[in-house]
Amino acid sequence: MTPAADTIAAVATPPGRGGIGIVRVAGPAVPAVIAGVIGHELEPRRATRAVFRSETGEPLDTGLALYFAAPNSYTGEAVLELHGHGGPAVMRLVLARCLALGARLADPGEFTKRAFLNGKLDLAQAESVADPTDTATTIAARAAARRLTGDFSREARALVDALIELRMFTEATLDFPDEDIDFLRAADAGGKLAAIRARLAQIVARARRGALLRDGLSVVLVGAPNVGKSSLLNRLAGGDVAIVTPIAGTTRDTVERAIEIRGIPLTVIDTAGLRPTDDPIETLGIERTWAAVGQADLALVIVDARSDAPPEGADATILVGLPAGLPRVVVHNKIDLTAFAPAVATRSDPVGPERRHVFLSAKTGAGVELLQHEILAQAGAHEDMEGTFIARARHLAALREAETRLAAAAQHLVASPPPLELFAEELRGAHTAVAAITGEFTADDLLGAIFSRFCIGK
Ligand code: GDP
Repeated sequence: MTPAADTIAAVATPPGRGGIGIVRVAGPAVPAVIAGVIGHELEPRRATRAVFRSETGEPLDTGLALYFAAPNSYTGEAVLELHGHGGPAVMRLVLARCLALGARLADPGEFTKRAFLNGKLDLAQAESVADPTDTATTIAARAAARRLTGDFSREARALVDALIELRMFTEATLDFPDEDIDFLRAADAGGKLAAIRARLAQIVARARRGALLRDGLSVVLVGAPNVGKSSLLNRLAGGDVAIVTPIAGTTRDTVERAIEIRGIPLTVIDTAGLRPTDDPIETLGIERTWAAVGQADLALVIVDARSDAPPEGADATILVGLPAGLPRVVVHNKIDLTAFAPAVATRSDPVGPERRHVFLSAKTGAGVELLQHEILAQAGAHEDMEGTFIARARHLAALREAETRLAAAAQHLVASPPPLELFAEELRGAHTAVAAITGEFTADDLLGAIFSRFCIGK
């Protein structure tokens, strides 16, 4: 592939203040940018401490400069990373300097698009570059990492190879019309097709599961001390100890727990960590927890079934602070100490929409299933998960298309005599669909749609 003629630049780190901020530049003008910003050549792949300078030689920032020579870089071109101090104003200045030296502002996802166009990544891998930062759970991050390393692509490619083999054979048979049937039998076209379909079914199952892992659910737990939050969490974890993940960058107690309900990963955010504090590190953790709460799918408000009193004090503040649109389920715990039976009810909320209420006992486990069902239902999942969660839609659509085509092909094969032209056409359709996953047959406009979802700087 011919290298891109122009040079792109963008701030690659998220907007806002941070410990470091990175400006990334890729393309033929990188040496000119290095000469202009750093003032001397850089040894490839070596972090060099440098002053980033303006046109007049004024220092804009100091930091690390990293140069990757083509083709051993992320995009396959010359790439420069300037790791500065991360304030938005400084990053803008450094970026502006790179633009003045011959780069243009990168489109969203353009670095990764170039990596794809230069053969550094296949399409499924390129898409998964977006995933590690999108995913909230560690399980999902691992699933994304698997795709990034090409597991999924490898399977798709093996399927493509098997399809090509069967297609080549079928096309050859078409050239010898008198020997159709014998050719088909000799090569066991039926057996090969069945094997391909079985393999496809496995990939579909994995892709669906991957989609669930990727998206998961994020649940906020709110309640006064001693209402039974930990007990409930352990119940929901199904006897396993809930996996605990500290929020990165803080030393304080953990606030996120990962559990599973029927195979769906749940990140449970414990708001007990949200009580006011003077400790600056804890304050940082609290900010991050609130950010996580802002992204949550559901809140469980836990009360004691004996009093029904909503949380008070700090916990009431947390309740008020939840995003207005966040669905809530009220959990009445400890029904074993009351005359209540396990139940789900819908009640109107004096200050909001109707709420679902679940009556259960974390201690005895009575009613916990009702809550599990309610959590999945609130998230839009059904008991029967077939097709409920939409995977990365493009992949599942391609796999489904291939399944349909291969089912039709199997139908043709059992006809007597088999309509070979139609059989060949269905195989071609299935091949095109699966190959689109790794990008071999993808039209340019589809590429545009895929990469435009990326953030700038990726
Ligand atoms: P948290 O402070 O909200 O996390 O509450 P815990 O889970 O630590 O529970 C507080 C106390 O309530 C503990 O002594 C639990 O054994 C008890 N408890 C929790 N759930 C139930 C329940 O469903 N029934 C009864 N009888 N006790 C419970």
